[in-house]
Amino acid sequence: MTRSKDEFLPFGAPYIGEEEIDEVVACLRSGWIGKGPRVDRLERDFAAYRRTARAVAVSSCTAALHLSLLSIGLKPGDEVITSPMTFCATVNAIIHAGLTPVLADVDPVTQNIDPQCVEDCITSRTRAILPVHLAGRPCDMDALVAIAQRHDLEIIEDCAHATEAEFRGQPLGTFGAFGCFSFYVTKNMTTAEGGMVLARDTAGQERVKMLSLQGLSRDAWNRFSSDGYKHYEVVDCGFKYNMTDLQAAIGIHQLHRLEANWHRRVALWDRYRQALSEVPVGLPAPPAYNTRHARHLFTLQVDPDHCGMDRDAFMRGMNARHIGLGIHYAGLPDQPYYQRQFGWDPADFPHATRISRQTVSLPFSVRLSDEDANDVVEAVTATIRSSTVSG
Ligand SMILES: *Cc1c(COP(=O)(O)O)cnc(C)c1O
Repeated sequence: MTRSKDEFLPFGAPYIGEEEIDEVVACLRSGWIGKGPRVDRLERDFAAYRRTARAVAVSSCTAALHLSLLSIGLKPGDEVITSPMTFCATVNAIIHAGLTPVLADVDPVTQNIDPQCVEDCITSRTRAILPVHLAGRPCDMDALVAIAQRHDLEIIEDCAHATEAEFRGQPLGTFGAFGCFSFYVTKNMTTAEGGMVLARDTAGQERVKMLSLQGLSRDAWNRFSSDGYKHYEVVDCGFKYNMTDLQAAIGIHQLHRLEANWHRRVALWDRYRQALSEVPVGLPAPPAYNTRHARHLFTLQVDPDHCGMDRDAFMRGMNARHIGLGIHYAGLPDQPYYQRQFGWDPADFPHATRISRQTVSLPFSVRLSDEDANDVVEAVTATIRSSTVSG
């Protein structure tokens, strides 16, 4: 896996071990590749990892968010407050659930939803808060839970970046009615495509499970088992959002290595922070006291006033030095569909808009060697220096 210096270093690449490969082969040979025992095991293992009892595996985090939003008993047009600094999936799930997304600006330092802005957005139609733990940094759950209690709102957490994260010792995804996780290729653990819902109570768990499988009555997914064919009833108009055993075969072993990988990314994080401390780029805020940051992304802020170049010029310079980068995210108020549909204006979200135009994510995969990380640091330093030399 050693890479020569001229070879392109991709932004993100999953680490797939021999255990995952063997498990997928065993799953294929078993003939049971749909939803079955390996999905059950991943649900149990994941729930235990997050120290809860109720997990439902689904086909993606988008599906997880959609089903969670459908399971808290809202009416069409009810408002859900979320962050402008998120992937479009968060807001699309709100829209698909027939609800109205409302954006609250983020804190300029943490880049997470600002509780004061959330409170300012509350109307008589507000029913839920959907915090996004950006880059793996926990939102201020004390403040958000207090607001939810004060205004009788539900909380559904978008934990796509935050699988390993905790707030005051409590796993993220357990603060509200539901917590939604992503096992997409670039996330901290992957099943290629996949997601997980953590549910606060058994009723929520059963409802998400039922809706993830066409709205069939309980245990219908076991209808072809060795106990004989089981009849089922359609009790709701559900979706085809279940996970398969082929995906769970990967996930079981990804979950096993999650903590070891987290420690590796903590070391990478410290290496980047230290090596870049003299470069005039903005670095991610240090994790807050008594929280556990999932270290999903390492993002820089390229402020033209300090760096002598804008973010896109910086990206071109890094690309010329064979380093791949990501953007998390181009803010949702900048996207034409939402502007048309909801009249969102980037100027109304000044912190999110500045961050979205200055932010860039460095390669941060556990597959990075120390030499790769050094190459990234050298490329950042040289790219920024090239601006001061030329101008
Ligand atoms: C990746 C991501 C999602 C969607 O996850 P999928 O599993 O791809 O559906 C949702 N929210 C955030 C913040 C994400 O990064």
